[in-house]
Amino acid sequence: MARLLQAYLDGELDAGRARRVAVHLDGCWRCGLEASAYEAIKVAVSAVSTHGGPVSHEAVARLRDFADRLAEAQP
Ligand SMILES: [Zn+2]
Repeated sequence: MARLLQAYLDGELDAGRARRVAVHLDGCWRCGLEASAYEAIKVAVSAVSTHGGPVSHEAVARLRDFADRLAEAQP
């Protein structure tokens, strides 16, 4: 799901698949949280880029770890 979710958030899905993902996100707490976390990662990465600094892959990996743990926290 994470891969499909990322493709969706990056606007890489066709309209039919994008609509299915959007419907799923409406009803799925876990994927909704994952989507928010991925958006936050993208914002953080682009913020670093616009400030001219190199994107730290380690920092991005840490954020992804954090997002994974958040998603797993739901019983
Ligand atoms: Zn889901």
